Amino acid sequence: MDLLRETRALLKQAAEVEASDLNRDSAAVVVDKLTDVLRQHAQQYYVLDEPVITDSEYDKLFRFLSSVEDSWPELKSDDSPTLRVGGEPLSGFTKVRHERPLLSLSNAFNPEEVRAWYERCRRMLAIEVGDVIPEIVAELKIDGLALSLVYENGKLVRGATRGDGTTGEDVTANVRTIGSIPLRLLDDQDIRTPELVEVRGEAYMKKSAFNKLNAGLMKSGKKPFANPRNASAGSLRQLDPKLTARRPLSFFAYSLLLPGPAADAETATHSRSLGVARRLGFPTNEHTSVFDSIEKAIDFLNDWTERRGDLDYEIDGVVLKIDRIKYQDLLGSISNAPRWAIAYKFPAAEATTRLRDIVINVGRTGSITPEAVLEPVEIGGVTVSQATLHNEAYVLDRDIRIGDIVEVKRAGDVIPQVVRPITEARNGSERTWSMPARCPACKNPLVRLPGEADYYCVATDCPEQFVRLVEHFASRGAMDIEGLGSKLAILLTEQAGVSTLADIFRLRKEDLLKLDGFGDKKADNLIAGITGARNRELSRLIFGLGIRHVGKTIAELLSAEFETLHQLGEAGQEKLEEIEGVGPRIAESIVDWFGVPDNAKLVEELSALGVNTRRLSHETPPAPTGLESLLPFADKTIVVTGTIEGMSRTDVQAAIKRLGGKASSSVSRKTDLVVTGDSPGSKLDKAKELGVSIMSGGEFLDLIRTTQS
Ligand code: NAD
Repeated sequence: MDLLRETRALLKQAAEVEASDLNRDSAAVVVDKLTDVLRQHAQQYYVLDEPVITDSEYDKLFRFLSSVEDSWPELKSDDSPTLRVGGEPLSGFTKVRHERPLLSLSNAFNPEEVRAWYERCRRMLAIEVGDVIPEIVAELKIDGLALSLVYENGKLVRGATRGDGTTGEDVTANVRTIGSIPLRLLDDQDIRTPELVEVRGEAYMKKSAFNKLNAGLMKSGKKPFANPRNASAGSLRQLDPKLTARRPLSFFAYSLLLPGPAADAETATHSRSLGVARRLGFPTNEHTSVFDSIEKAIDFLNDWTERRGDLDYEIDGVVLKIDRIKYQDLLGSISNAPRWAIAYKFPAAEATTRLRDIVINVGRTGSITPEAVLEPVEIGGVTVSQATLHNEAYVLDRDIRIGDIVEVKRAGDVIPQVVRPITEARNGSERTWSMPARCPACKNPLVRLPGEADYYCVATDCPEQFVRLVEHFASRGAMDIEGLGSKLAILLTEQAGVSTLADIFRLRKEDLLKLDGFGDKKADNLIAGITGARNRELSRLIFGLGIRHVGKTIAELLSAEFETLHQLGEAGQEKLEEIEGVGPRIAESIVDWFGVPDNAKLVEELSALGVNTRRLSHETPPAPTGLESLLPFADKTIVVTGTIEGMSRTDVQAAIKRLGGKASSSVSRKTDLVVTGDSPGSKLDKAKELGVSIMSGGEFLDLIRTTQS
């Protein structure tokens, strides 16, 4: 497809060339091409709800065009994408003219740009009102579709999309089907129901609802939506409202517009007007905060950059707005965006690239996962060349083919995954894929267990499974053998004769010195790591053995119940099932594991080689005394912000648990206490705002000390 080829070439150019490097002729060519390409992408995105590039790729091209236009202002056309908002309204709907235009937002891609925006606002305000430090409202930027809702005498009379900002689509009938949008404003004794009010906000689809919708679409052979935003837009812009009614849409209000000047104290600031919107019956987003300095607002956006994955809806950034409406009015707007607001966009979480191949990954329990080999691509500062494809059904349902251009997503610490193929980019050379019949490592037939999506290699001597097991056994959460990662696991199994986990503890320095790349120091370090691993907690050993379905938490439950690994091996199905948190599937898997003669032998050998197989004193659970309710944090939900001296995040969570409390990551009305460490984030402001009790890091450490003694 020409559009995609042209887009890739322009993206390459945008990455390599500065606008100032171009001469006038080449700048003119670039402006022409970018204008044309961006227009086509806007059509795909806004009108057809079917983007073929990611938002960050679009943003890169958009920025490139802006910078070339800044260097050569005479090349900027009147209808340049940089001057426009959104896309044309769809022809099937009645068009509506917005009383006040629905603008776009200027973007910032790093904290410096956010600071520069704030300073610009202050400079402009200084001319009108003198030197002020205006308060800032920070809101999450919900990735959905903007809606304008008009109420007359308390009744919803019109719901419209943004369209091109001036003219939108009348989607009133569809809007009425969204449960969280009031059809009639609530009566609030403190607020006079305004005769005319416009509420703007974002219609969106929760991630959970989106996944369910897509699963249903694929089941009935239909094309899934690319992301929740497109699903929301596609659902709202249905000509048949009955179809919209079946789509689970939600809504957050982010602005309340009343006719005339905002003289009323209730609406003198944006944050207060959101409170009014809430009282009139509109859902507003709970993670909205007001800050008295730009640095605190920057903490807020940094915090959400990390935590965005915790939400059940997608956000693509944080919107900062000057809170006072009077200041907003003084600052005004440029052609397509207000000056008093800025959207900080999170670093890209997606990219598109070519799927070179699909290979099979054999896990330590024999699970078989198709894995994508990608043309390397940068996502949020990291080069990604592999991504998971989950299982056979995932590839087949989405019709992902080798050679496809695919969208790849990487969110936080999650392993990158292939989201979808860009079918529009196919040229016929792509190949369909099917699950091989045999394990690529040991050539034994693969089997699919009833009721499971995954295939397994059930061979007990599969070399690949064993390498993964060694890797897992040595990993930080298990026996924590420093330096023993995936490369060394291969080397030890292939060249040092390690064929059981016990063999790791038989390794001698002379064996290691024979291996590729091993010198004196490296060998000493590994031997020291292995020696250290002899004294690990029982729960780590149980987890490290790689028993199917026995993760870290289950391993801890088991070590709390059994004093030794032998005792665990002797416990039958029934006894295991009595443990809270251990179901029949887990119990069966444990019994099966110890029933394999090689595993029973391994337990003996580990013990003989000096590996601890007993519960350590600090793993022993305190005998229930009936006094748990007296623990300092009994039944309390605790949030920690900032770092506590000398403690990792896991240590802090464990300490909270020991003190009887439940650790949580976000502050809400349900939070009982916020502990503040060094450099606390916006959670502290939120706690103050909600009146949640606060404890200093020092007091927290004292409490731990006194309760331990
Ligand atoms: P925008 O999405 O960057 O910002 C404006 C919109 O943000 C508003 O209209 C509103 O809908 C939304 N919003 C969410 N929370 C808000 C809040 N709390 N306060 C105010 N507004 C809030 O701008 P835009 O003009 O809608 O779209 C431009 C963006 O769309 C681009 O940056 C790009 O990421 C994406 N896009 C992608 C493609 C593509 O092909 N992938 C094509 C066109 C546009």
